[in-house]
Amino acid sequence: MRRILSATLFLLSSLVFAAEPSAPKITLALVGGRIVDGYEGRPIEDGAILIAGDRIAALGPRAAIRVPEGVATIDTRGMTVLPGLADMHVHLMILGHGDYEHWDKTYRPRFRDEIMPAAARQLVTSGVTFARDLGAPLEDILFVKQRIEKGEIPGPRLFVSGPFIQHKPYFEYEKEFRWGVNGAADARAKVQKVIDAGVDLVKLIDQDQMTEEEVKAVVETAHKGGRPVVAHAHREEEIRIGLKYGIDSFEHTGLATEPGYPDDILQSIKKRNQTLFWCPTIEGLFLSEYTADTFPERLNDPRWQEGLAPDIVLDIRKSLENITGLPYFALVRRRIPTLANKFRQLRETGVTLMVGTDSGIPGNFHTDSTWRELATWVRLGMTPMQAIAGATRWPAAFLKKEKDIGTLAPGRYADVVAVRGDVLTNVELLQRPDVVIKNGVRVR
Ligand SMILES: [Zn+2]
Repeated sequence: MRRILSATLFLLSSLVFAAEPSAPKITLALVGGRIVDGYEGRPIEDGAILIAGDRIAALGPRAAIRVPEGVATIDTRGMTVLPGLADMHVHLMILGHGDYEHWDKTYRPRFRDEIMPAAARQLVTSGVTFARDLGAPLEDILFVKQRIEKGEIPGPRLFVSGPFIQHKPYFEYEKEFRWGVNGAADARAKVQKVIDAGVDLVKLIDQDQMTEEEVKAVVETAHKGGRPVVAHAHREEEIRIGLKYGIDSFEHTGLATEPGYPDDILQSIKKRNQTLFWCPTIEGLFLSEYTADTFPERLNDPRWQEGLAPDIVLDIRKSLENITGLPYFALVRRRIPTLANKFRQLRETGVTLMVGTDSGIPGNFHTDSTWRELATWVRLGMTPMQAIAGATRWPAAFLKKEKDIGTLAPGRYADVVAVRGDVLTNVELLQRPDVVIKNGVRVR
């Protein structure tokens, strides 16, 4: 009987490999655990994933996957195993400090070699294996992106915009990462410049303060260069003009304290027929009250301090002493009651929501922003499975990288997170990933 069984198993496993005549050498296996692949289908219980180099070679129920002798194995029994997460709205140049002017003036020389690499490391060790950086000095962010690509420093796969393209910088000290445009020709030239430098997308803000010719020039130049345009959606006019000229992704839920989006905007979003993406970036809005009233202890958590110089930690900590009094959060108490309705409205339009957090804004640390956004979506009515898709498959779709990242399937890059417990019941478990693998290499 035993012999028949093992013969059958042998036959099964040789079938698995027969499909792939030049099977790549397996370098790592994750064995056991519930696999949630990112497609929102039924999870695989007691699953196994085989990794060959930087790619996934096979996955399925453990009974159907043969782990070759001697391969390094991670025991994921009792865990939820899912694709590495995306955070589609981060800022590596900031680390949660409460005062932007002080931060930019004091730490600008330390962005490239110290602050951005620390932020990148914090994100990836928290389970974020790909991210959009939406606003930074051009050379610095490209340098950090390339260092991560070469494997010189740990970090998520970065998709970057470089500077904000906008009507004009608010302050002189911001002009390296906020490029003002003056006329359509200038808009075209500046967008072309960031594209030629190697950005992945274009970030547009305050488009309601630009002329329509300028907005049109920005979007046309970006699209001609094969780059999507990501734009702020703070004000209703900003959304209207963005929709008129074909923005690909909107950010935020508005500075306005109106209870919801007006009908014409909702109708225009519906007409986009699911070609529009949106990062509502909600979790950060709850942080000031939560930190002050419920859990000030989070400010002492060594996790957000990982890899940061002591003077920076001290300065950030001090800046958040009176977090509810920060100008950044001035409107928040009035905005919070509008969020549930706006979130529901957006979902009803069919727009594709993506997890993005504005990680790095006051009190919003790179080590815990992403899971908080998923948890907030679930609190506002999504299932954990839908929220996970917003941090895996849909971001990959926006980036047109579905064949490489965002889901667990043979051929994808081996970017995997494993967390003890049932994430589909308690999405907050994502705050403590037990295993993070990027490019087939364990980073946590
Ligand atoms: Zn932002």
